[in-house]
Amino acid sequence: MSEIRVLVTGASIAGPALAHWLCRRGATVTVVEQAPGLRPGGQAVDARGVAKDVIRLMGLDAEVRAACTDTLGGHTVAADGTVLETYRADENDGDGHIAEVEVLRGDLSQVLYDATRDHAEYVFGYRIAELVQDPDGVDVTFASGERRRFDLVIGADGLHSALRSMVFGPHEEHVRHLGMVLAFFTVPNEFGLDGWAIDHNDGGRSAGLRPVPDPTRAIAMLSFPAPDFAIDHRDIAAQKRLLREQMAGFGWETERILAHLDDAPDFYLDQVAQVVLDRWHVGRVGLLGDAAFSASPMSGAGTGLALVGAYLLAGELAASRWDPATGFAGYQERMRDYVAANQEIGRMHVQMLTATGEQPAPEPDMEYFTALIERAVGGPDLPAYDGVPDSAEAAPR
Ligand SMILES: Cc1cc2nc3c(=O)[nH]c(=O)nc-3n(C[C@H](O)[C@H](O)[C@H](O)COP(=O)(O)OP(=O)(O)OC[C@H]3O[C@@H](n4cnc5c(N)ncnc54)[C@H](O)[C@@H]3O)c2cc1C
Repeated sequence: MSEIRVLVTGASIAGPALAHWLCRRGATVTVVEQAPGLRPGGQAVDARGVAKDVIRLMGLDAEVRAACTDTLGGHTVAADGTVLETYRADENDGDGHIAEVEVLRGDLSQVLYDATRDHAEYVFGYRIAELVQDPDGVDVTFASGERRRFDLVIGADGLHSALRSMVFGPHEEHVRHLGMVLAFFTVPNEFGLDGWAIDHNDGGRSAGLRPVPDPTRAIAMLSFPAPDFAIDHRDIAAQKRLLREQMAGFGWETERILAHLDDAPDFYLDQVAQVVLDRWHVGRVGLLGDAAFSASPMSGAGTGLALVGAYLLAGELAASRWDPATGFAGYQERMRDYVAANQEIGRMHVQMLTATGEQPAPEPDMEYFTALIERAVGGPDLPAYDGVPDSAEAAPR
């Protein structure tokens, strides 16, 4: 079979994970990332159940575990710091609220990039300006003016995916705002955090602190209800203003946390939103990760969905001998229920956090909820793809 050239946009989690599997299956991969380098930052992201299986299949278990935050668990506290509830990371086989495999997003991105950088072509500060597909390929014009032709193009460019807008229709058609805004940034650990996360929730708002591998620092996490969200995701000054306004008077350690806002090296604020599309592919163009099926940070599953999706997308495409219609359809069929379960958990979590005395969250049916968690953590079967090329020995680990 002749060379298969795949263009992937986005080098965070989904993009490098897909590059890994595509290279192993024999494709020639180019990853373009619009940021000038690998983006640091982000809070801890979790891998549970089937996502841990994919990390093992990638041969990256040791690297990912070495990058873990080693968080022991978490405390929910009252405004005066009194502990109301405690949960441990080693509960539920390490797949609980705080997972045993918990890594800072930027650190996981670095592990995935390091494992693929010698096998895939990475181009930073680059993005697609235009693409035109025909039955045999896709002609891509980059913002730099360069033109290249690929067999397949995959958008792994996140919640605000430009590729999705270009090919699948405007952002508003596919992004569902869940009525909440979430912010993360690094602060000095002047709060005495010792391996345990702390959260304070009240009246729909929440503030929390998460330990990180560097004991002198911590990650602050703040959220508040927001029926609408109209601020551009690139307007950092407006985002900081909104955060200060909305968290004013919340009490607990919030004022001390906000005092570090202007010095934060890695401020991230975004609407809590999900992406819902009937199809994650049009012709030779497909979507992966948050671009295709964001379940929102409140699902705690964005990373798992990206990793598992990368395994299945590359596997199904290679198993179909790179026939886009068959490969993309197989990927979507295998992922569908896993995505639906995690999106449902994301919505339930938002309802729980934004519940107030007047509007309490509905009580879930425990039997249904247990089955839902099993679907969300256990995920789809991972076919071995026997007979499909796998250059694991020679190519990226
Ligand atoms: C800087 C950053 C911080 C984050 N922090 C958190 C967090 O604290 N908590 C949380 O739950 N989730 C966070 N996320 C989202 C989380 O990483 C994802 O939910 C999940 O890991 C799935 O990843 P993804 O690769 O699909 O999307 P993302 O992680 O969103 O990555 C998308 C990538 O595509 C790049 N990109 C965007 N547009 C283009 C374009 N036009 N061309 C080329 N590249 C493009 C982006 O720069 C980014 O690197 C963060 C994402 C980023 C980028």
